[in-house]
Amino acid sequence: MEKIRVRFAPSPTGALHIGGIRTALYDYLFAKKNGGDFVLRIEDTDTSRYVEGAEDYILNALEWCGIIPDESPIKGGPYGPYRQSERRQIYDKYTQQILDSGNAYVAFDTPEELETLRKNHENKGEVFSYNYRTRKHLRNSLSLPEKEVKSLIEKKTPYVIRFKVPVDQTIHIRDWVREDFSVNTSMLDDKVLVKNDGMPTYHFAHVVDDHEMKISHVIRGEEWLPSLGLHLLLYEAMGWNPPEFAHLPLILKPEGKGKLSKRDGDRLGFPVFPLTFTDPTTGSVSEGYREKGYYPEAFTNFLVVLGWTPEGKEILSRQEMIEEFDLRKVHKSGARFSKKKALWYNQEYLQQKKDEELLVEFKKIPEVESGGYSDVSLLRIISLMKPRAVFVKDLYVQGSFFFRAPDRYDEKSAKKAWGENSSDLLKDLLSLLPQTSPLCPEKIKTLLHSVVERHKTEPGKIMMPLRLALVGELKGPDVPDIITIIGLERTLERIRHALERIRVH
Ligand code: GLU
Repeated sequence: MEKIRVRFAPSPTGALHIGGIRTALYDYLFAKKNGGDFVLRIEDTDTSRYVEGAEDYILNALEWCGIIPDESPIKGGPYGPYRQSERRQIYDKYTQQILDSGNAYVAFDTPEELETLRKNHENKGEVFSYNYRTRKHLRNSLSLPEKEVKSLIEKKTPYVIRFKVPVDQTIHIRDWVREDFSVNTSMLDDKVLVKNDGMPTYHFAHVVDDHEMKISHVIRGEEWLPSLGLHLLLYEAMGWNPPEFAHLPLILKPEGKGKLSKRDGDRLGFPVFPLTFTDPTTGSVSEGYREKGYYPEAFTNFLVVLGWTPEGKEILSRQEMIEEFDLRKVHKSGARFSKKKALWYNQEYLQQKKDEELLVEFKKIPEVESGGYSDVSLLRIISLMKPRAVFVKDLYVQGSFFFRAPDRYDEKSAKKAWGENSSDLLKDLLSLLPQTSPLCPEKIKTLLHSVVERHKTEPGKIMMPLRLALVGELKGPDVPDIITIIGLERTLERIRHALERIRVH
């Protein structure tokens, strides 16, 4: 059996949408599952859409996601170059071949002429198509005398090369994901294969490349499905066997209708790009999953289930993804994006991290670094704050009281927490706490208990005002844990401060 070879072929026209990353992931998983190669090819023949920095962005995004190509513009490989702009000679050779075979022709119609035709048709309520019906009335090598064609070319008249679509044939289309269907060739137009700058269009270039690079399976977004008939005709015209095809469903808006766009992300507060991207022309910055604090493993796990449901479990290591991925089971219909699910995945992966690993990231937060805590105390904070954290920054945001004394007391909490005997209870604690050494949750609990007993009151009467004094509101982990971590000095200071400031009764 021929070796499985799959390619991801993005165009460097801007940031890579998460749909593109999912395509790359499915390409990669299918290749690896079958012991095959995963190839990255940069499709940059359309110079008008080229965006500076976009290729680097693609490379960095794939690397961050751990989708590592076996062959690429950087790594090279036996079928290079892997950038279409460097493959001109190869395309030239095959352009000559398709012209010689009579399956393509030279067309001199100017963009203005074609625009006028389009407009005229539109005015009559019709759609202009350059096809088997119209081609003989237009200015091309099929309609003009050979001598004139030669002379026009000699005079360097700009021309394009068009595909001569055969008339009234049925193309049977088989796809790994979508239902089989048929297309009648008379529905297709004579697509441009080579532009007037001599560069091939996507349609021609990718067929040549997939053939030359021995690609066995083309797995790509479903926006290319309508062009598949044309692509199969091109293979036939070149005398090549086509690869297998699988067209992946779209990632849909959270509401379910239409393709997920950057505007949806802006509107609902989530990124649609893997890494932050700065548009070089507008300067506008779009935040990425990486910069938001997502783990690449969580991000790719979230993506892999958008369009494919693994059996049994939702959390999959990369190895499990490779083993279980089934291209035949990719869904036919679009997958709805869910921000909640993205967050859930990150939370799950964060919970699986060892506290020591989180410590390294936690200490990168400037307020944490300068907080004056030992690693032992920071590890205590991590283990207390971890269960509800989605991102590492949540460990700080939700536990900021460890690093800063409250500068205000939540009014509602104060009303609820501060009773008539609160001051007395806290004053008692102020004098007793310094005698409790060393501070540990057990000893603090015993002390609090004894104060409650002495005042013949209930535990809540001291716990709530104390929590308010330490945190500023009625949330956070157990009070004895907080006291143990922030230490005696900070505790006393916060209690004194609260006694001075809180006046509810
Ligand atoms: N360059 C095309 C794109 O970016 C690739 C389509 C394909 O995979 O054939 O959409």
